[in-house]
Amino acid sequence: MSVAREKLVVMKFGGTSVEDAKAMERTAAIVRGRRERGLDAVVVVSAMAKVTDHLLAAAAAAGRDDKAGALAISARLRHRHIDTAADLLRGERLAQLQSAIHQELDSLDDLLRGIAAVGELTERTNDLVVSFGERLSSQMVAAAFEQRGLQGVHVDARTCIITDSHYGKAAPLESAIEAKLAEIVLPLIAAGQTPVMGGFIGSNAEGITTTLGRGGSDYTAALVGGGLHAGAIEIWTDVNGIMTTDPRICPDALRVKTISFEEAAELAYFGAKVLHPATILPAVQKSIPVWVLNSRNAENEGTKITAMAAKCASPFKSIAAKKKLTIIDVVASRMLMSHGYLKAVFDVFDKYKCAIDMVSTSEVSISLTVDSNQQLPEICEELGRIADVKMEGHKALVCLVGEDIRGHNGIAGRVFSAISHVNVRMISQGASEINMSFMIDEEDVEEAVRSLHGVFFANPDEAVFDITTRDVAARGQLVSKT
Ligand code: ADP
Ligand code: ASP
Ligand code: MG
Repeated sequence: MSVAREKLVVMKFGGTSVEDAKAMERTAAIVRGRRERGLDAVVVVSAMAKVTDHLLAAAAAAGRDDKAGALAISARLRHRHIDTAADLLRGERLAQLQSAIHQELDSLDDLLRGIAAVGELTERTNDLVVSFGERLSSQMVAAAFEQRGLQGVHVDARTCIITDSHYGKAAPLESAIEAKLAEIVLPLIAAGQTPVMGGFIGSNAEGITTTLGRGGSDYTAALVGGGLHAGAIEIWTDVNGIMTTDPRICPDALRVKTISFEEAAELAYFGAKVLHPATILPAVQKSIPVWVLNSRNAENEGTKITAMAAKCASPFKSIAAKKKLTIIDVVASRMLMSHGYLKAVFDVFDKYKCAIDMVSTSEVSISLTVDSNQQLPEICEELGRIADVKMEGHKALVCLVGEDIRGHNGIAGRVFSAISHVNVRMISQGASEINMSFMIDEEDVEEAVRSLHGVFFANPDEAVFDITTRDVAARGQLVSKT
C-alpha cells in the first residue's frame, strides 16, 4: 500500500465551517478542489458552531440535578442536527444519517439522565458529554462527502487519537497515534477514500473518551498531519488567515502572509484564538507547513506558517490579547533571595498543575500571572505559609509578537507611548526575544490593542502583510481598501 505523503493534506474545518448545511456544502467544495488537484485529503471537523458550549451547559445542568434543563438543551441539539441532515442529504442516505443522529442523541439523553440521577458531574463524564458534538458533525460531513462523490468515510477519532487520562485537557500519545493512523486511516487513503474524523476528542489506553481542551480540533489536525507525515496541514476558519490582530477588536486588521512557527506559537499561547497553542508542535517536529485559510473565501491565499520568519520592516507581525487572568503578588521581605525560595513558590503552582504566563521579580516580591479558572484559593493558601500573598483578578495580557523585534531599538518606548493613557501593571520581554507583553485591566484591552495597531500597522510592509484587502467586522467578507 503506498500513499505519496507529499500529496497528502490534512484539512481541518472549524465550527463555523460546518455550522449548517450551506457551510458543509462549502467544505465539500473546498475538499473537491484539493482532490481535483491530485491531492489526497484527510478531513478533521469541529462540532457545528456553538454545539460544544451547549453540550457543556447541558452537562452542567445535569450535574446540578436540572434534568429538564439538560434534556431541553439536548432536544434543541437533536432538532438542529436532524434539520441540517435534511438540508444536506436525500433518500436512503438521509434516512441512515438521521437514524445515526437519533441514536447518538438517545445515548446523550441517557447519559444526562444518569448524571442528574447521581447528582455529580466528573471531568471524565463531562468529556463524554462534549464528545457528542464532534461525533455528530463528523458523521454528517462524511455522509455529505459520500453523497457528493468524494468517497467520504467516517472514522471515529477516538480509535486513533490516543491520549493520557487527564480529562478536559488530555495529552496525546504520539507514537500510539501514529500506529493507529497507519493501521486505520492509511488504508482508506490508499483506497482513494476521504477519511473524515472529529477533532478535539480521543480516548485513553482503556478506551475511555477524553478531550484535548477547548479549541482542540486544530491540535487533532496537527497530530494527524504529523502522524501521517502529511505534505501540508490546512486550518480552515472564518477569517482570511492569521491577522495583525483579532479582527473582532480591529476590523481593519490585515492578513499576515507568512509567519514563523515560533511567532504563531507565541501568538496562540498568548490569546489569539485562531490557532490552538499546541497545534504547532507536531508540525514543527516534522517540518510540515501549516496554512490558515478562510472557508468563506477559499480563493484567498491565507497565512502560511513556516520554519523561517519572513523578514519584515515593522517590528511586529501581530498583537494578541488574553483576558480572564489573575495577578498573584508574593511578598517575602527576608526570604526572597534565600536559596530555594523561588523553587518553593513554583512548586506550589506545579502541584496544582497551574501554568504561569508571566513572571516579574523585585527585591522583595514576585508577581505571577495565571488563568483565573485555576484552583487559586488553594494555591494562595499554600503560598500564604511562606509569604504574604495578594491576588488581583480581571486582568488581561497584551502581547506583541515578531521576530524582528530584535533589530529595532526604542521599541518599548514606542509601545508604551502608544498606550500612555492605560495603566500598565507588569511588563515582560520574553527570553525568546520575539514577544513583548504587558498586563492591564481587562476593560482596557480593546482600547490598548486598537491604539497599538494604529501605531504599528499604519504603514504596513507589503511583503509581509496583505494590504489590498481588509477583513471587516462582517467576518470573511472582503472590501477594497479605500
Ligand atoms: P474555528 O471555529 O474555525 O476554530 P475560532 O473561532 O476558534 O475558529 O478562531 C477564529 C477566530 O479567531 C476569528 O474569528 C477571530 O475572531 C479570532 N482571532 C483572534 N486573534 C486572531 C488573529 N490574530 N488572526 C485571526 N483571527 C483571530
Ligand atoms: N468543538 C471544540 C470547541 O469548541 C473544539 C474545536 O472546535 O476546536 O472547543
Ligand atoms: Mg478554533
